[in-house]
Amino acid sequence: MEESPRKKPRENGTDKTDASDSGKLDKKQTNGPLTYDVLRIVFKELNGMELSTASMVCRSWLEAANDERRTRGPTYFMQNCKDLLANEKWSMERIKTHCIKKLQIKPALGLFFTAHSVPFSQQDCHCKVLPPNCDTITLGTHGVILNEKEIEGNVENIVCTFLPDIPDVTIKTFVIGDNSATKNDISMSVENYSEEIKKVLSTPDKNSNKSKCLLLFCDLRGRGFAVKLSNSLRKSYTADELSVWGGIAKDLLVCNAKDSKNERCGEFAFCVGITLTGAVDTWSVIVGRSYKTKEAVERRIKSFRYRVRLKKHSIGLMFACCARGEYMFDECNVESTIFKKYFPEIPLVGCFGDGEFGKNTLYKDPSNKNAKWFNVKSAIFLIITYG
Ligand SMILES: [Zn+2]
Repeated sequence: MEESPRKKPRENGTDKTDASDSGKLDKKQTNGPLTYDVLRIVFKELNGMELSTASMVCRSWLEAANDERRTRGPTYFMQNCKDLLANEKWSMERIKTHCIKKLQIKPALGLFFTAHSVPFSQQDCHCKVLPPNCDTITLGTHGVILNEKEIEGNVENIVCTFLPDIPDVTIKTFVIGDNSATKNDISMSVENYSEEIKKVLSTPDKNSNKSKCLLLFCDLRGRGFAVKLSNSLRKSYTADELSVWGGIAKDLLVCNAKDSKNERCGEFAFCVGITLTGAVDTWSVIVGRSYKTKEAVERRIKSFRYRVRLKKHSIGLMFACCARGEYMFDECNVESTIFKKYFPEIPLVGCFGDGEFGKNTLYKDPSNKNAKWFNVKSAIFLIITYG
């Protein structure tokens, strides 16, 4: 479930302090203030929100909380909703709330992949438990993906992933949706949106040569808009500097924390763009419609593997066309299994949609420059890595 910290075992949880020193302190201070080591042991047991509260107590607690936070990476899991939904007290929003409450991290961005047309109940909305500045996007999909498992035609599972607050990383969400608060947005042209997104992506960065990343989603109503937006943006980005991942979902639901500046709750959007900039490395690859066999997909992923350099924490995302999967390969789990073969250490989450957005990063092929970001019958993979 949670990515377990690659740290020393708990028993000798002496990360920073010299072992002999801390031993002395422990004896002396059994009734006094908690030592760093004890705090670390206790903090390991806290979830993301509790850790955040604990970090506000004093400077030494903050230090221990921050060190504990650094051991925790992106979170992902699958929740089976069948039994919960059979119980009338549980709505999909309550299940999402439950998912957020058990997070080991303080989330900065959440993606939920569900079946499509799940009823939304505002009074139960999960955004009540979101921390400030955290947006979530719920994609109604044709199927969900978790590690090697592709569940096409999924109805009863919810797959989610959350990115934690990462130091020096900025996440911005651009929503074009139905709510009155954003009615003006709709009248804005593709060019205006394109300029706004470019502005954020071009913000000068303390950490030079870090990559930039765009997640782009739309529903069927927003397809024309999103394709135009992607065509407008792609003219500005050559091969290496930007990775792109996303696609067309059945429906898109946006929520954010209650105290956020642009309050949104249960807004059905027709296009959503999310930018990630700062101290994070990202790579995306298109496994295009011409990659129709296991062998071809494997060659593609293998060559991608050699180009990617992983850092401490990573998450993989897959957006596949519903015309791939079992329909194309005559067996299940083909592409997710190949991804996991080459990236066994990276959790993979994602979904099946109906049209994909992607871009090849790190392919110095001149034809890449003019390649469209909008693809059909493809699978797009994205790797986010940092730390
Ligand atoms: Zn909400």
